Amino acid sequence: MHSGLARRGVLFVLSSPSGAGKSTIARLLLENDSDISMSVSVTTRPMRPGEVDGRDYHFVDVPRFKAMVEAGELMEWAHVFDHRYGTPKAPVNDMLAAGRDVLFDIDWQGAQQLYQQSGADVVRVFILPPSVEELGRRLAMRGTDDQAVIEARMARAASEISHWDGYDYVVVNDDVQGCFAQVLTVLNAERLRRSRQTGLIGFARKLVTPPAES
Ligand code: 5GP
Repeated sequence: MHSGLARRGVLFVLSSPSGAGKSTIARLLLENDSDISMSVSVTTRPMRPGEVDGRDYHFVDVPRFKAMVEAGELMEWAHVFDHRYGTPKAPVNDMLAAGRDVLFDIDWQGAQQLYQQSGADVVRVFILPPSVEELGRRLAMRGTDDQAVIEARMARAASEISHWDGYDYVVVNDDVQGCFAQVLTVLNAERLRRSRQTGLIGFARKLVTPPAES
């Protein structure tokens, strides 16, 4: 799939209202593509059953989070559902320096901040549920939060969805495999953008330089 030429890494942002299937798509990307790594966010929200500190999030308290903001350790951060969430800067820079692409599961506020900082390298993909009924069904099936939280998220989904036009791509998730295939197509096409192919100048120059005379 890849030309093997040096290129700039893609900062690949996936956003969606909760329940649109984003975490499944993110997991499929990480399992099926060896060139992309996940950015693990810090959050002040409590850990849910089944979550692992350091894998799903770095779970921190509010003073620690504020200290990270003060120290300039976060690339972006925002309040989402009454808790703070942010992207640690150092791991992202390390992954990019190692020639990898980075996957971000962040909300529209994070996407906006990332775009303001790293514009040309950021690709923003928004995933929509096929209908409001399906969104409600998926949220109710989760069972990880109480009813009040689910209802708050339904309300929040409406405002989250209104930010769809701040994204480069919008994909409807009515079928997980189909949606995943579309997201992967976007990622691979963006990898091939000429502006990211830093190795292209040297490569093309060699192709047009006549062989040295012997
Ligand atoms: P959850 O609490 O369900 O894991 O995530 C709630 C929302 O916070 C999701 O929409 C997720 O994309 C967003 N989120 C997670 N990490 C970050 C982050 O580092 N920055 C921002 N801006 N949003 C985040």
